[in-house]
Amino acid sequence: MNFLTHLECGMCKKKLDAEKIWNLCPDCGKPLLARYDLNRAGRAVNKNDFNKREPNLWRYHELLPLRNPRFRLSLGEGFTPLIEARRLGEKLGFNSIFIKDESLNPTGSFKARGLCMAVSKVNELGIKEVSIPSAGNAAGALCAYASLAGISAHVFMPNDVPRSFIAECRALGGHITLVDGLITDCRKKATEGIKKFNWFDISTLREPYRIEGKKTMGYEIAEQMKWELPDVIIYPTGGGTGLVGMWKAFFEMAEMGWINSKKPRMVSVQSEGCAPIVKAFQEGKEFAEPWMGARTIADGLRVPSAIGDFLILRAIRESRGTAVTVSDEDIFNQASTIGNTQGIFACPEGGATLAAFKQLRETGWIKDDETVVLFNTGSGHKYYHLWMKDKEDIS
Ligand SMILES: *Cc1c(COP(=O)(O)O)cnc(C)c1O
Repeated sequence: MNFLTHLECGMCKKKLDAEKIWNLCPDCGKPLLARYDLNRAGRAVNKNDFNKREPNLWRYHELLPLRNPRFRLSLGEGFTPLIEARRLGEKLGFNSIFIKDESLNPTGSFKARGLCMAVSKVNELGIKEVSIPSAGNAAGALCAYASLAGISAHVFMPNDVPRSFIAECRALGGHITLVDGLITDCRKKATEGIKKFNWFDISTLREPYRIEGKKTMGYEIAEQMKWELPDVIIYPTGGGTGLVGMWKAFFEMAEMGWINSKKPRMVSVQSEGCAPIVKAFQEGKEFAEPWMGARTIADGLRVPSAIGDFLILRAIRESRGTAVTVSDEDIFNQASTIGNTQGIFACPEGGATLAAFKQLRETGWIKDDETVVLFNTGSGHKYYHLWMKDKEDIS
């Protein structure tokens, strides 16, 4: 059983038929969100039954947009460990710190969640060719699920993307285009193919399904914490799907009566070299201005302009959260700290969450008795070059 009812514009609230193919809202051009009959779902689904289900994101299938289970694709994505980081906590003199380790997903990042869902759904809708602009991880994840579904993936990455991502997309059978510029330039390039060949555009928040895959991180944290959410969640923000998705998940769960009304304060962390959301948050704006000259070692955060900016800012404000910048040096150092205290080879984006944590604790925004979840969104393996720089070349 599945409780999807319709799609709804995140801005103007226009309702759309969920059985048809949509990208953005046809009226105002903003992102669409999947809506469910939460009343019925709350009565039909018992949250205590999840432990009998498979440890992947399909365990929440009633609240996901796929209709026909025949189209479910799976490489084992989701239900990643929520690790109580004791050694890290000791080092920081902090009691209750958890790491949601997304590096264990297929293709080594949480992009697998979104692309698993989107490719499953577009396959159900009969789409045969898709395209994506990506800083690397989304491209790899798309190629993996497209390969599994037997559909074509056209991926557009900046030409300075780490070589590991190119290798991965090649091995997974993707059609690769390298673009001179940033992810925003990649999108422009992809748009040519979308217009000419009618590929389905699977860019961040320009279709309603990736966010549904990513919202399962919120369901998992609730389930793994026995339906008692943490005080603070720190999330490295690029396009913002994960942050917006989790915030959506918390409302859905509250509506279904699975959790009480206490929700976490959502923290968005970006690099000093690309921080459009932090700037907009600090200036009290509803939308973010495009960031000029975006630069950071955390490729997933090099997003100068996000179509879901107002949804990210809304989630931060509604949750009484905040947004902070951290330096690339700190990003690198804290990724290493996660590695040498907890045995997790974290991606730089994961390091950014620890850097933000330290900053917020120093200012007293995070209190000693609070429970905090950091997101390690991907594996350090694909960014291994960062740990080789200035070091003896042993290759
Ligand atoms: C894409 C990406 C991010 C940013 O995620 P959004 O949900 O788009 O904000 C963070 N970390 C890694 C490793 C990524 O690949």
